[in-house]
Amino acid sequence: MKIFKVLTPLRAASIVLAVVALVIVLDQLVVKRDYAPPPSHDVTEAIVAVERDVIPTPDFAPSLPLSTEPLQTVDPAVVVDEDIIPHEPETVDDVVDELLSAPVHHAATNPRVVIIIDDMGVDVKRSAAVVDLPAGLTLAYLPYASNIKAQTAKAKEAGHELMVHVPMEPMSQTKDPGPEVLRVGQDEAAFAQILQDGLNAFDGYVGINNHMGSKLTQDKTAMARVMTELKSRNLYFIDSRTIQNSVAGDMAREAGVPHASRDVFLDHENTAEFVSKSLAQVERKALKDGLAIAIGHPKDVTIEGLRAWLPTLKDKGIELVPASQAVK
Ligand SMILES: [Zn+2]
Repeated sequence: MKIFKVLTPLRAASIVLAVVALVIVLDQLVVKRDYAPPPSHDVTEAIVAVERDVIPTPDFAPSLPLSTEPLQTVDPAVVVDEDIIPHEPETVDDVVDELLSAPVHHAATNPRVVIIIDDMGVDVKRSAAVVDLPAGLTLAYLPYASNIKAQTAKAKEAGHELMVHVPMEPMSQTKDPGPEVLRVGQDEAAFAQILQDGLNAFDGYVGINNHMGSKLTQDKTAMARVMTELKSRNLYFIDSRTIQNSVAGDMAREAGVPHASRDVFLDHENTAEFVSKSLAQVERKALKDGLAIAIGHPKDVTIEGLRAWLPTLKDKGIELVPASQAVK
């Protein structure tokens, strides 16, 4: 009885309102709990994600002093592409720069690596060990190597691409580039003869690279002579890049000779650690730019390093190609 007395119409109305309000609040809570944002390709979010991944301090609160204006014009594929690169940019600006400058690769094209082993043929035993590595290497033989025709025939039969490793004049007077060397200022006929002799030492090759040559590859006249000969023989040129100021690439382009340039030396230091670090660098370059060209030598550390590394490429989605597929 008391209850009905207490429950005046006004109070009854308040209780109804309170119940309605409670239902609305509960409903909101349920919606919030169930709400999961859909996967987004928003570039800004991706940058925050990358940033979190590369910055090791857990209490770092990312702040993005960025205008979203230019970022929204970036193809999401660039972000996806960049995510697979395992290197560690140091700052947010680095991450953004890389996201904006990264080339977009066609999904069907694997990152490619070219592994050139030059100075081949002189150390016969180690050269044979190089030939025994998995097929698809590019092997550059010195023209004065002993028994050169048999060595190169065997290498080609094993599935490697062949190049002539043409001796060219170095800056240092103490380095010995071998018996027949192209030199700056050489008389044109002598220069032509040495080059011809080198290119006639064996056959089955499709291009050349320079042995030493830190002096010769800076000389436009000499490089123009080399490129004219390569053009007439339909050969490519790989610049070993023994000097930063090389004009070989420019002269090859002028002469219409397909060419490319070395990115990484595998065995500058004769240690397994150095070779392993260099191979990791080759992978990073290939994943970033789609192509990396490395040069190594017939050394035990290089042979062992490659023997372990080459079979891992397939799982990494990286393709080993000969130099002829990398020249432009
Ligand atoms: Zn060399």
